[in-house]
Amino acid sequence: MNPIRSVCVFCGSAAGNRPGPARTAARLGTLLAGAGLRLVYGGGRAGLMGAVADAALEAGGHVTGVIPEFLVARERGHQGLGEMHVVDSMHARKQKMFELADGFAVLPGGIGTLDETFEIIAWKQLGLHDKPVVIVDEDGYWAKLDSLIGELVADGFAGPATRALYTMVGSVEDVVDVFAAMPVATIDTDPTRL
Ligand code: AMP
Repeated sequence: MNPIRSVCVFCGSAAGNRPGPARTAARLGTLLAGAGLRLVYGGGRAGLMGAVADAALEAGGHVTGVIPEFLVARERGHQGLGEMHVVDSMHARKQKMFELADGFAVLPGGIGTLDETFEIIAWKQLGLHDKPVVIVDEDGYWAKLDSLIGELVADGFAGPATRALYTMVGSVEDVVDVFAAMPVATIDTDPTRL
C-alpha cells in the first residue's frame, strides 16, 4: 500500500450561481497544498477549476493541468502551473489525469464533472483500479447522485457494493483525512487496459 501523493479534482468549468462552491473549491486547493498533496486537474482557469488551482498555487502546492488543445481558449488554459499537459482529446485528458492521480475528489460541477466521475467509478467497478474517490457533498450538492445510484442498486442494475466504490463527505475539511485513511491499493492499474 502506498500513501496518496496526488489528487485529481473533478469540478465545474463554471463557478455556478451561488458563492459556496467557489469557496469550497478554493478551500480544497489550500487543504491539498497544505497536506503536501499534488493537485491534478483539467488545466483551466475558468470556474471552480480555476479556483482550486489558484488556491493550491497560492498555498505553495504543486499543480498539474491536463487540457485538450481545443479547450485551451474556452477553458482559459492556466499559464502559471508547475506542469501542463496539452493533449489531443477529451479521452486523452481523462486517461492522463487517471495516470497522474492516486485518488480523486469531486466538487460541484455539470455534465463534464458527471462524465469524469462516472467514468472513474465505472473503471473501479470493473476492477481496473482501486483508487479512492471522494465526493464532496457540501450543502447536499451530490445527494441526488448518491440516491440515484441507490435506485440503480434497488432496481438490480448495479451491484449491492456499488456505493462502496466512492466515499461521500459532508465537508471539504474531511477530504484529506479520508485520503489519509485510504492508501492506494497495489492493484495493477496499467492504463493500457482501460
Ligand atoms: P463541467 O462540469 O461541464 O463544467 O465540466 C468540467 C470539466 O470536464 C471541463 O473541463 C470539461 O471540459 C470537462 N469535460 C466535459 N466532458 C468531458 C469528457 N467527455 N471527457 C473529459 N472531460 C470532459
